[in-house]
This record gives sequence, C-alpha cells and structure tokens, in this order.
Amino acid sequence: MEQATARLNAIAAVTAWQPDGQRTKFKETPIRQLFGINVFSDDVMRSRLPEHIFKAIRNTIKKGAPLDPAVADVVATVMKEWAIEKGATHYTHWFQPMTGLTAEKHDSFLAPTEAGAAIAEFSGKELVRGEPDASSFHSGGIRSTFEARGYTAWDPTSPAFILENPNGTTLCIPTAFCSWTGEALDKKTPLLRSMEALSKQALRVLKLFGADASKVYPTAGPEQEYFLIDKNFYYARPDLINAGRTLFGAKPPKGQELEDHYFGAISERVLACMLETEMELYKLGVPVKTRHNEVAPAQYEIAPIFENANVATDHNMLVMETMKRVAGRYGLQLLLHEKPFAGVNGSGKHVNWSLSDDEGNNLLKPGDTPHDNAQFLVFLAAVLRAVAKHGDLLRAAIAYAGNDHRLGANEAPPAILSVFVGEQLQDIIDQIEKGGTRSTKVGGTMTVGVSILPTLPRDAGDRNRTSPFAFTGNKFEFRAVGSSQSIAGPNLVLNTIVAESLDEIATALEKAVSSGKDLNAEIQALLPKWIAESKHVIFNGDNYSEAWHAEAERRGLPNRKSTVDSLPDLIAPKSIALFGKYGVFSERELHARFEILLENYNKTINIESQLTVQIARRTILPAALRYQSEVAQSISNLKAAGVNPPSTEVDLLNDLTATIQDLQSRIAALAKVCDEHVSGGTLAHAKYSRDVVIPAMNAVRNAGDKLETLVADDLWPLPTYQEMLFIK
Ligand code: ADP
Ligand code: MG
Repeated sequence: MEQATARLNAIAAVTAWQPDGQRTKFKETPIRQLFGINVFSDDVMRSRLPEHIFKAIRNTIKKGAPLDPAVADVVATVMKEWAIEKGATHYTHWFQPMTGLTAEKHDSFLAPTEAGAAIAEFSGKELVRGEPDASSFHSGGIRSTFEARGYTAWDPTSPAFILENPNGTTLCIPTAFCSWTGEALDKKTPLLRSMEALSKQALRVLKLFGADASKVYPTAGPEQEYFLIDKNFYYARPDLINAGRTLFGAKPPKGQELEDHYFGAISERVLACMLETEMELYKLGVPVKTRHNEVAPAQYEIAPIFENANVATDHNMLVMETMKRVAGRYGLQLLLHEKPFAGVNGSGKHVNWSLSDDEGNNLLKPGDTPHDNAQFLVFLAAVLRAVAKHGDLLRAAIAYAGNDHRLGANEAPPAILSVFVGEQLQDIIDQIEKGGTRSTKVGGTMTVGVSILPTLPRDAGDRNRTSPFAFTGNKFEFRAVGSSQSIAGPNLVLNTIVAESLDEIATALEKAVSSGKDLNAEIQALLPKWIAESKHVIFNGDNYSEAWHAEAERRGLPNRKSTVDSLPDLIAPKSIALFGKYGVFSERELHARFEILLENYNKTINIESQLTVQIARRTILPAALRYQSEVAQSISNLKAAGVNPPSTEVDLLNDLTATIQDLQSRIAALAKVCDEHVSGGTLAHAKYSRDVVIPAMNAVRNAGDKLETLVADDLWPLPTYQEMLFIK
C-alpha cells in the first residue's frame, strides 16, 4: 500500500544494500603503517623540531612549564608545514563547549601579503589562541551578548591531528574554551584544572613514601556502547532523527530474551564498518582495542587502551564522531542515545579510571612488596572516602535526560552511588578496620608495611555488573555514565573529590611524620578511621534488588532518581566549597553549569514532547483512521451482502475507535501542557517537565503503541522495532 511507502522502501533498500568495495584494506595497509600517521605526535616533533625547542615543548607538556612565545612560533611553523604536506588547507581550534559535542571553526592558512597576494601563514599566535565568534554557545549567564567573545587556548598536552575529507584535510588543534575573564565555557578547562589539583595532592602522598615522581595523572579507558541500524529506517523515523530515540514503538515478539546477540558473530556489513572505523581511528592515534556485540540486538561496544584522562576524553569524542561518519559510508546510522528503544537494553559507557605517576606506575595496583601495599592501601582508602563523601556529585556528573531512562531501570546500575570491592578486598578492609588482629580468609594478618597483600583476582569486579562503581583489580570502573556523554564531567568530579581526600590524608600523615612518628605505624593507626568513615558506601551485593534500595536508605546514601533531583547538588554549599578550594570551578562557573544542564534537560523534554504530538497527529492517527475505515467498510459490506458481521469484527472496530479516541484526547492533553507557561525559573520548569510533561508524553505513546498492535501492517507508516533491530 502506498500509504506506508517510506517504511516499505526502507526495507527494500536495506535488502538491496551492496558494499562499494572502494575502501582501504588492512591487508594492503597494515596497522603499523597507519597508527598515528595523522597525529602531530612526540615522534613527529622530535624529528622535525630543533632539539632545544623540542625540549622546551616537552617540558610544557610533561611538567606544565609555561610556554615561551618564541617556542610557540617555531612549533606553529613546523606544525603548519607538516599539515600542508598532509594536504591541509585549513586549521581549526577544536574545542568542547557545553553542548557536549565538539566544535570547530575553520580558518585557511592563507594570509594576504602587502603586494596583494596570499601566502600560507600560521604563527605561534594563531596556534596558541583563537577567537571564534562563539556568541551562540550557551554560557549559563557568564557572558552577555555584548561581551560575547570567548577565546580558545591551545592544550599542548593533547596532540594536534589531521582530519581527512575526500577533498582535503584540516589541521585540528585541541583547545580549551574560556571567556575573556578566564571563566571556563567548556568541558576541557575544568578537566585540566582537576588534573592539576589531583597531581598536586597525590604527589604529597607519594613524597611521604619516598617516591620521586614529578607528576601524577588520572588514566581513563571508556568502554563505549552504541547501536547501528540501517540508515533507511532512520530516515523514516522523525523521532530518531530529531530526538535520537524512538518516541513510539511496540515491543517486538522477539527482543533480547534469547541473548543470542551478546558476543555473537558480527554481521559482515557491521564488521566491515567497524574495521574501517578502527582504521580511521588508528590514523588519529586512538588506540582502540576491543569490539563485540552487546546484549541488545543491533548493539555493539568498542573500547580503547587507556590513556591520560585528558587525551582519553578527546579520543572518546573522536571515537563517537568517527563511528558516526564511517557508519554513513556503510548505509548505517549510529545511535549514541542512552535509550534508543524502550524495553530494549540501553547504552552506557564504562569509564575505567585509575592513577598513574609519570613513570607509568599504576597507583591503584596492589604491589608485590609491603611498601607498595601500604601505598596502595592509602590510595584505595582515599578513593573510598571520596566516593563516600561526594557520591552525590558523581551522580550529578552523569545526570542527563537521556541517562534518566537507564539508571535504576534494572539494566544499568541504580542512581545510588555505591562501591564494589569484591570478597577478597572486603576481607582485607574488614581486617584492617578491626586493627589487623583477625586472620583472613586469604591467610595471615595484615600489618601495614610488613604484610604482603594476597594477589587479588583481576576480574573480581566483572562478575558484579550491577555496581555503579567497581574496583576491578587495579582501577575503578564507573559504570553509570551515559553512552552519549563526554567523559570529561565524570573524570573531573572523580579527580577533584579524590584530590580533596588525598589532601586530607597527606595533611594528617605529614603532621605525624614531621613530629617524628613512623609512617607505617601512622597509616596502620589511621586506616581504620578512614575505612570507618567510608564503609557505608561499600556494597558487594545485587544493586538491582529492592532490598538494596531499602538498605541504602538506611545507610543514608542519596538516591537521586532523576536529573532534576540530582543537579541541585552541584550548587550545594558542600560542592561550591570543594570545587572552589581546588580551583576547578568558581561559584559562578558552577551556577552557570547548573543552569546550562537544567536548560538542556528542559529543551530535550520540550523537543521530545513536540515531536510526540507531531508524530501522533500526523503519522499515527492518519494510519489508524484509514484502518478504522477499512474495518468499518468491511462490516458494512457484510451487512449489505446480508451476512451478520461477526462480533469479533465489531469488537475490533470498537477497540480501534476507543484507542483512536484515547490517542486524540491524550494528544490534546500533551499539547496543552506543552503550551503552559511555567513560572519560577529553570528548576521549576524542569520539575514541571518531569512531573507533568513526561507522563503526558508517555500516555500518548501508550495509545500509539497499542494502535501499532491493531492496525494492518501494510498501513503502518513507521519502521517497527522488529525491522530496525533485526533487518541488517
Ligand atoms: P576487562 O574489563 O574486559 O577485563 P580490561 O581490564 O582490559 O578489560 O579493561 C577494560 C577497559 O579498562 C579498557 O578500556 C582498558 O584500557 C581500561 N583500563 C585498563 N587499565 C586501566 C587503568 N589503569 N586506568 C584506566 N583504564 C584502564
Ligand atoms: Mg568493563
């Protein structure tokens, strides 16, 4: 039937899809030749820069030394030449405004000469600082339009890279984005500040242990989940195009209950797409390592080897963008939304996080010597205390309309932030708390500075997939992060809260040591106190269970069920004091972020509700009316032929009519609540969106989804869940 052409054409196009066979193949270009070829890396700099310039820039990158403008000039010239050799005509300061996406404004290398010609020019000035006319980015009240300019500042700790396009290439320079008054307008600036704070406090602790590291940095390895569906289906779904998720769709007869997708064989087209994505990412120096099918049909995961958290954050943005770009070449559409399909597993991002010194030692790895173990226990205690004290901020770091569909929906961890440590480590922690007097399951007693920790199983945490924050042998895994989110936010919160905890620990230990006490004895004395302060946040059981929710409440752990409940924690006095003390956010910056994030929530719900009205009214209702009239016609035909229509057919007509009526009245109700003026500011509006608009939207959806189960298939206009998830 022609009424449902978009959907049926989509199915035909999917079936007819053929690979074009034009792409680079790993067989012809091995990884070794590809990895990092588009990165202005350490190696490129070493081979192209004069030695003293190379040393100076390395000093800036590794130790944070200030950058001499003369050095910047030389680096800029060399970078430009390198980029032009790689076909670049333009450069861009690549930054991450509060939209959660990346932004770029391209400038060509051309500069006019006095003689009226043009030459390729790019100096230290252009490298170090840019002035995008960025007045349209939301600043949460930090800038008014008359002082709208912000500037971008080069981040030399994340390498510049070349982005390829079939017709040319662009040099991309990772930058921070600030207002003229120096206030952060982006995700990178506070991340860098938090890394600075963390390094400073961690070094104080390391120094007590006699280490001579000169920098500590957080490491991050985000495991990224995503969906791929055929582009033809995507184009036939206005909700996917505009909201990133389906706002309608009845549950298919076959969902994920057979679990036949997880780790299953990857389809040929999807695998081809993955291979090309990886090839592009290798060129950009992104060390992607694993790929597999995920739990839901059409869902997959990609994970890199961990890197310094700043570079890992930039690289995760590149992963998301590259996946999207390459998917298009294979007729596929990438869906990064946390919950593209109701009733089907959503997508998250497991952010693995640890601490490393500049010699590459993992500070959260239990060591082989008593000395290493004492140090490990101190850092472990620091993280536990931090999460116990500021779980609400970690929750706020992942608060986002899309993630509200996952958290607490028994597929992702609940919104209650607890820490999983596993049986063995729990036993050690218990023993330390009791003063090292009891013998452990793993044998012996724990005396700091004397005992060696038993080898902890590396996969202990992997068996408990329900925990939002799990210790997995030598790192923590923050599992509640949304798939589409930048990992800058979760990282910077972790860095800051752990910096505070390390600061307090260092202060206590420094005081004892300077008054002549033995470090190990002091740690042995203080560990029980630190553990006692934080043990209420440890939970090794099933985080999905009802019993845990009740238990968490008894323990006083916050349970912020929605974005709207969580975001106000960002501007609580405790948060303002913390971020202010470590120079990560000023109070004004925190308020600005609070406003931007809440407004983003309101805009998201607003777009979704308008779309719901539009699709229900203009796509679903007409299809239902057509079918209603077909059924009515059939009944009257029977009557005209002297046949008594069966009561079931009349029931069908009645059911259709009643559901159509429901749909129409619910559309009207939703349209009305959308138009309501809400006074009282952004937070009041967000509460209204959550309590009034979302329920009204769900009511429309229910009627629409019921119609999907009634209306004739050949009249149904929207690609169904079954088609989108299973036709590949
Ligand atoms: P699995 O969890 O499947 O056993 P891995 O332990 O290799 O896999 O790690 C999963 C993710 O954690 C990968 O992205 C990996 O790079 C990252 N990861 C491993 N070690 C660290 C670390 N020290 N810091 C941050 N991330 C890490
Ligand atoms: Mg994992």
